[in-house]
Amino acid sequence: MSYMMIRAGLRSLSVPAKLQLNRMVRTGVDALRNNTLLASQAYINGKWVTAENKATFEVYDPATGDSLAAVPDMTSTETEEAIKAASCAQNGWAKTPLKERSAFLTKMKTLVDENSEMLAEIMTYESGKPIAESRGEVKYGNSFFEWFAEEAKRIRGDAMLHPVKRDSRYMIVRQPVGVSALITPWNFPLAMITRKAGAALAAGCCVVIKPAEDTPLTALAIAKIAEKAKLPAGVFNVVTCSRKNAESVGETLCLSSDVRKLSFTGSTPVGKHLYSLCGSTVKRISLELGGNAPFIVFDSADVDKAVQGAMGCKFRNTGQTCVCANRIFVQSGIYNSFCSKLAEKVKSLKYGHGMDPTNSLGPLINERAVVKVKEHVDDAISRGAALQAGGHLAPEFGPNFFQPTLVTDVAVDALVNREETFGPLAAVTKFETEDEVISMANSVKVGLAGYFYSNNAAQIFRVSEALEFGMIGVNEGVISSELAPFGGVKESGVGREGSMYGIEEYQELKYVNLNF
Ligand code: ADP
Repeated sequence: MSYMMIRAGLRSLSVPAKLQLNRMVRTGVDALRNNTLLASQAYINGKWVTAENKATFEVYDPATGDSLAAVPDMTSTETEEAIKAASCAQNGWAKTPLKERSAFLTKMKTLVDENSEMLAEIMTYESGKPIAESRGEVKYGNSFFEWFAEEAKRIRGDAMLHPVKRDSRYMIVRQPVGVSALITPWNFPLAMITRKAGAALAAGCCVVIKPAEDTPLTALAIAKIAEKAKLPAGVFNVVTCSRKNAESVGETLCLSSDVRKLSFTGSTPVGKHLYSLCGSTVKRISLELGGNAPFIVFDSADVDKAVQGAMGCKFRNTGQTCVCANRIFVQSGIYNSFCSKLAEKVKSLKYGHGMDPTNSLGPLINERAVVKVKEHVDDAISRGAALQAGGHLAPEFGPNFFQPTLVTDVAVDALVNREETFGPLAAVTKFETEDEVISMANSVKVGLAGYFYSNNAAQIFRVSEALEFGMIGVNEGVISSELAPFGGVKESGVGREGSMYGIEEYQELKYVNLNF
């Protein structure tokens, strides 16, 4: 079935007027009425502002399709104002003593902790993420404020003797890159901001954030946290805009000579476009783009552990993370046992509105995402795959729901083995040898995360070195941590976030040759 046919079919499905919702789940604008972190203006130069032309765009609950709020639909005009504000604040922020910068970040961390439930609620309503996962994201996201508050105090340089002259020295200092533009996606609305902004602020860079149009409310809630933490005006700015204006806002950020760095997380095509725009001003750049993670289970693996790992790795955030298992390769000796155990688990998954704590999966972000999953399922089946669980849209739950799905005996050349699905589809392909699976795993142009399960020590060393991915989980399906460098190779991106290396993305090394 073609993309257009699936889309047309989707439109013709009748979605019930009101979903059957747990009574705790409120809908529409009522949902966030008592949430004091809800903001409906953007944050520029320490002020809450509307778009100059007063334009707004709606933010929807993807589970119900109800509007939650309207926020400013800004253009290049307000983006330029935000760049100007950040540029004016830049010198002062760069000179702020390390302990003071650290104290600001610690204050942000404390405020996030104190407001964690309200942040989680906003995230679940606008992204669809199950509430337990939103709470987890608040903790994970806040670990970057904590981490970079500590790293801010450890910014160091080097002093060296001159190699041949007695009265000369070399000094190397780390200075902030300057104003940094941060363009973030909807799937981790909080953590993608804190992971970038934590590092930037610690390094001494002022930021202009453009959050995804689907999830601007979390970004604005963090701006409220920045305001409560009394960050100086212009240090932390959030410019909101619709998808329609994203291109011109992005262009303004990328083409401005005053912006010295772009950090982008999102799709590969948009990342490539922004990369090329940044060439015009030779900006520093960090890109975290799409993945297509292999999840390999060797004969020597503990099958139960591998099934457990696959469930977390595949279905977390309803399959919508760039490090989600996308291609599950299982060796022939344990293939049947792995597939039947996985099928049991997939069938037991409960899905529905994210605010109902009994649901472990929520809706997909929008109709486009649902169509893509359906297309991947249909393509796999048309090439001979067996449907073991799910496989269909679930309109009785809401407009953007898709059943948790498992297909086995998937052909190597199926769409799901070539492209990232970004949805609750587990697709399993059988393999025979280690060489064969390494070559299949590395056959894609991207290389973000990869996983494998094995209890053979020699194989563990061989395979972790052979896989062309930036991050590898060995007998582990969930690998993100503030201590570890997050990032990919090949077309998955440039640079690393988090960890002791993340701050370097926002620093320049200056070499001073001292002669006395
Ligand atoms: P997705 O398909 O998951 O929405 P995108 O790469 O399209 O991923 O979006 C990630 C972020 O990039 C969002 O903040 C979005 O608004 C922004 N974006 C999308 N297109 C552009 C563009 N042409 N220029 C700048 N930003 C863009």
